[in-house]
Amino acid sequence: MNYRIDHIPFETPNKRRPGLLMLPRTITIHNTGNPASSAAGERAWLTDPSNDRQASFHIVVDEREAVECIPLDENSWHAGDGSKTTSGNRTSIGIEICESGDYAMTLENAAELVALMLKARGWSVDQLRRHFDWSGKICPRLMYDGGKWTGWTAFKAMVSEKLKGDEDVKADKAGFEVNGEKQPDGLLINGTVYVPLRAAGEALGATVGWDNKNKVASLTTKGGK
Ligand SMILES: [Zn+2]
Repeated sequence: MNYRIDHIPFETPNKRRPGLLMLPRTITIHNTGNPASSAAGERAWLTDPSNDRQASFHIVVDEREAVECIPLDENSWHAGDGSKTTSGNRTSIGIEICESGDYAMTLENAAELVALMLKARGWSVDQLRRHFDWSGKICPRLMYDGGKWTGWTAFKAMVSEKLKGDEDVKADKAGFEVNGEKQPDGLLINGTVYVPLRAAGEALGATVGWDNKNKVASLTTKGGK
């Protein structure tokens, strides 16, 4: 997914970009509430002359891209809970998830983006909020499920999986012997032992080859061709 920065100007009407410094403490998830609009469309709406609302947001994601509309160290008006310094509007990064196009792909992109953002800050899914958590608005509405919020639970699980993904690869040292003779150490990764092929092959009397162009290693034993 492409991440594009296209900040709206400070002079955007209705103080949609007030430029108040923000030290983000959470990330808030929204749906756009517009089944027809793309990320580019939502970005364009923020500077559309016919838009008379104050509402704004930091990032909008669709099936193709993410567009950052307001820098993440400034506030935006997305949480519907006023301007107190403890409000969602002043402490939380607002991410709009588009409802148009391939929604499964859009969700995948959103989860990927959110996981990267949490990771970069050393945060977990505990730092995720719904718009609903700040102001009681039914948003993100496509995760609401009549009040059961099953979509929200599923989204957080998706993000959790992505956060965990990188930590799954844990390598331990593994000793390695051929016919009782000690060889250079290998690695134990997810239950599989990886050893230096040249050492293993030569210890077994095979010829070890390396095709650098195709990145293919080979072992040839006597009698093989
Ligand atoms: Zn919302």
